[in-house]
Amino acid sequence: MKRVLITGAAGFLGSHLCDRFIAEGYRVVGMDNLITGDLKNIEHLFPLERFEFYHHDVSRFIHVPGELDYILHFASPASPIDYLKIPIQTLKVGSLGIHNCLGLARVKKSRLMIASTSEVYGDPTVHPQSETYWGNVNPVGPRGVYDEAKRFQEAMTMAYHTYHGLETRIVRIFNTYGPRMRLNDGRVLPAFIGQALRGEDLTVFGDGSQTRSFCYVDDLVEGIYRLLLSDYSGPVNIGNPDEITILQFAEEIIRLTGTTQKIVFKPLPTDDPKQRQPDIALARRLLGWEPAVHRSEGLKITYDYFRSLTPDELNKIEHKNFVDYVR
Ligand code: UDP
Repeated sequence: MKRVLITGAAGFLGSHLCDRFIAEGYRVVGMDNLITGDLKNIEHLFPLERFEFYHHDVSRFIHVPGELDYILHFASPASPIDYLKIPIQTLKVGSLGIHNCLGLARVKKSRLMIASTSEVYGDPTVHPQSETYWGNVNPVGPRGVYDEAKRFQEAMTMAYHTYHGLETRIVRIFNTYGPRMRLNDGRVLPAFIGQALRGEDLTVFGDGSQTRSFCYVDDLVEGIYRLLLSDYSGPVNIGNPDEITILQFAEEIIRLTGTTQKIVFKPLPTDDPKQRQPDIALARRLLGWEPAVHRSEGLKITYDYFRSLTPDELNKIEHKNFVDYVR
């Protein structure tokens, strides 16, 4: 039976990955410092004999007894509000954290995968973004702590691959959504659905003409799983190329939730990318992968999840948004 370590296990993506590897018959070791993760996302796994959990910060030395076939480094704050609230931790988990994971992978002779991001492309001047594009990142802007940590993480991983011959995989994740997103992480989907559920207006930043391409979490996990088992060590985009403006997205959420609230416009945060769409030709060719869940279907499932939250959970958010933090 194979054994996998997943850092960031209690987070949105980490918890879905735990579920997938458990379903595939693996032994799963979850690790999380619970700064942005939530044990609620994995509490259903605790009774399983094949699941273990370490409450640990990967930016500190990692000790895991026993063999590890795979290590998936998915620990990181992952929303613009989080980078502003905890910028140093964001930098540390992408630098010290990956260094510890790589060291562990060498000792255990594991294959290591890192969660990289479309943010390595910054505010892209090339559209759609393919893996050959090197990006347009402002290192000292509010997103710099995340973008540069992830870029460093890619460089470090590639160095261990070429210098030490470590087996590595790099997935560049584009905007992803689904159940277990944190309601207060400031990202656009929980922000809009939360606002609709609380009877507040939907806050569109800028004029809403900036675009994103949203991938349903199950599609993403499938792409990640296939990439891990492939033999390709270069970066691979995984995301859904179905691009939409943020204003259209707000209108979709209004239709989905039936809210009678309106859209209000707020200033666009600094360095907010104007457009983003993954070129997934490589993933198609290499992995035979492409997204299967249409946004209308994925949004319904996600809305049902948010609707199932208790009023306490729904109101626990800080009524501060990204723009308030930047000021
Ligand atoms: N956004 C918005 N209203 C909100 C939250 C976000 O208009 O309440 C916009 C944000 O400015 C960005 C897009 O939605 O253009 C996606 O933001 P998110 O934080 O989800 O992720 P990003 O792709 O920017 O990292």
